[in-house]
Amino acid sequence: MSGDFKDKCGVFAAWNVPEAAHVTYLGLFALQHRGQEGAGIVASNGGRFQGHRGEGLVYNVFSKATLANLPGDRAIGHVRYSTAGGSLAKNVQPLWVESSLSEVAIAHNGNLTNAVTIRHQLEKKGSVFQTLVDTEVILHLMAVAEGNAAAKLKTALSQVEGAYSLIVMTREANETKVFVVKDPYGFRPLALGRLDGGWVAASESCAFDLVGAEMVRELEPGEVVEFSGNEVKSWFLKEKAKPAPCVFEWIYFSRPDSLVFGESVYEMRKKLGEILAEQDKANGLKADMVIGVPDSGIPAAIGYSQASGIPFEMGLIRNHYIGRTFIEPLQSIRDFSVKIKQNPLRGSLVGKKVVVIDDSVVRGTTSKKINQFLRDAGVAEIHMRISAPPTISPCYYGIDTPQKKELIAANMTVNEIRDFMVADTLTYLNMDLITERLKPKTSMCDACFTGKYPIKPKDIV
Ligand code: 5GP
Ligand code: SF4
Ligand code: MG
Repeated sequence: MSGDFKDKCGVFAAWNVPEAAHVTYLGLFALQHRGQEGAGIVASNGGRFQGHRGEGLVYNVFSKATLANLPGDRAIGHVRYSTAGGSLAKNVQPLWVESSLSEVAIAHNGNLTNAVTIRHQLEKKGSVFQTLVDTEVILHLMAVAEGNAAAKLKTALSQVEGAYSLIVMTREANETKVFVVKDPYGFRPLALGRLDGGWVAASESCAFDLVGAEMVRELEPGEVVEFSGNEVKSWFLKEKAKPAPCVFEWIYFSRPDSLVFGESVYEMRKKLGEILAEQDKANGLKADMVIGVPDSGIPAAIGYSQASGIPFEMGLIRNHYIGRTFIEPLQSIRDFSVKIKQNPLRGSLVGKKVVVIDDSVVRGTTSKKINQFLRDAGVAEIHMRISAPPTISPCYYGIDTPQKKELIAANMTVNEIRDFMVADTLTYLNMDLITERLKPKTSMCDACFTGKYPIKPKDIV
């Protein structure tokens, strides 16, 4: 399976909102952390769709002139993340097809686990695909389905499996509709809000804050919210599933200022830090300061500090102005990829016993390099604490975790990892403890930490 099919992305929609494309543009800005490789908006004033898509950050893709070409009071948008090599301009969403009678545009966050299988079946029957994106199978399945737009969407989605938080805009004759959809497992977040008498939808509530919308609620797993004219309908996909929202959205992926799966992401991360602190209290660990690896390790470090009484310090300073395309340096500048992002605050670290908190370890390279910088800066002891369990299995539902052979925790013991990352001690959190303390309202997906997959991916043998 190629990296092209693994998307962790952000979606946004505006319905009955003046200057919908501009509002969507701002919404995508707030969702930029969910994808930096490409962005796109498709808008409508009730008639034919207009769209603009491109590679790069939201502010690189759009200009005053391109937004001026997207008039209307309804729009959908997408920010795309893909693994290296998969970021061709034609793969940027929303995907959009038109025939003489109808149009469909679609923006997808998640990953379908039977897209390759369906694609091969459709290609045998003569379908010609335009992109490498899994989402395109939904368009092809809709094209051959019967009935109105809602019926077509329902039929298409009854055939796909996996994770999908979707926004679909359709036009049949002169009737446009927007559908906001969460898959029956509810893997990825998706919420509804109100703005100026109209509606907005977004992957995360932080996008509502930026556009001045009021959050109404999150979608239920399997729910479809259908907007047409002044009518708003909610209906459910046929398939029922045991809910499996992604626990990694709380641990790492969502922004801390978002409300996701009914909880404040910031508060959840602080709680993870508190558990780590309680464990260390019981072990009698003595340290001078707690630091978090910016940005994602900071909330857990604050939680650790508050629960342990050990002062929180910055310790590492992050450069926020790094694009994805910096020019690689000469070999003589070692560890450049981490060094360009993180720099230790030397003066405050010399001779100190430091608890270093990060949200997760994937390949182990970030932790190793950061700890080496800290040692070079004169730190006396490094107690590495990870506010997640060991990542031992890939994700098939939209987060781009690498294959098992590249996951350090799938290949080394905790003590081996501790030595590899030049720490004095290393502790991860245990999944049962996380569940006990975060008290999720439903069952959750934790497959990358446990290997227990809610859906067996058909595309992978
Ligand atoms: P490692 O160097 O171990 O491969 O990566 C660990 C670091 O990457 C951590 O600081 C963590 O915050 C971050 N991280 C964890 N998961 C992801 C992900 O899916 N994408 C990106 N870009 N970073 C991640
Ligand atoms: Fe989230 Fe991990 Fe499940 Fe993927 S496997 S959906 S990252 S919990
Ligand atoms: Mg990080």
